[in-house]
Amino acid sequence: MKIHPVPVRDDNYAYILQSSVDGSAVFVDPYDVDAVSSAATKLGISKDKVVGLLTTHHHHDHSGGNDAFSKSFPGKPVFGGSDQIPALTEKVADGDSVNNLLQGVDIKCLSTPCHTQDHICYHVVDSSTGKQGVFTGDTLFISGCGRFFEGTPTEMLSAMDKLSSLPADTLVYCGHEYTQSNVAFSAAILPPSEPAISQLVKDLQDKKNGGVTTGIYTIEDEKKHNPFMRCRDQVVKDKLVELGAAGAGGKVESEVEVMRLLRELKNGGQVKANI
Ligand SMILES: [Zn+2]
Repeated sequence: MKIHPVPVRDDNYAYILQSSVDGSAVFVDPYDVDAVSSAATKLGISKDKVVGLLTTHHHHDHSGGNDAFSKSFPGKPVFGGSDQIPALTEKVADGDSVNNLLQGVDIKCLSTPCHTQDHICYHVVDSSTGKQGVFTGDTLFISGCGRFFEGTPTEMLSAMDKLSSLPADTLVYCGHEYTQSNVAFSAAILPPSEPAISQLVKDLQDKKNGGVTTGIYTIEDEKKHNPFMRCRDQVVKDKLVELGAAGAGGKVESEVEVMRLLRELKNGGQVKANI
């Protein structure tokens, strides 16, 4: 299994997920089908090898290429979590497996409602090497999470818990390159002495991997350098109290409250470290 990120629009990532068995490929959120198709051609993937499309959620910058895809690749299945997704042919739900699409790759659908109610993350496993990845759309970013457009802090907490329970070495393939802004926030929340957050800051400063941060950090890394994955951590609770985010009572009662406050602070844009 190979996963190739394709930058599209301003800061979105589309992906080409390719089988190592027969070279066939699936597009993930191919907003710009021409760009993703030409990236596939450059990788030696001929048009007849493209077997389907996975959509993470209905927002236009993710699903806006679906109609063009079904014109270019007629008859190929388009997966997604709701009828709001253009050109949808296969509606999927939490726990569904898609194992007959790409040879040697098991695809599991994880419903993570909050950013949108129809949000699906796709956990993919190479059945011969065991290598794993997860397409997290706008639910989980590197060191951040999506805005709660259609959901609640409780739902985002459940989404983070679900993604946290994936195998530690699962690589995270997110929907946007938002890492610089996310890390400015995370570095103001997490203790700078922690190696995971200081390493991430250094990686950004060094422009590791050419500044592309998708596909190089694991779920285990996120559990360390992503405050939204650490809502039960006393260190994060204490920081919220220290920042005065907890309100007059000065207490943060629950992990749901931590999630709500973290998102509110991040949206406000005032809590930032100089990185
Ligand atoms: Zn979105």
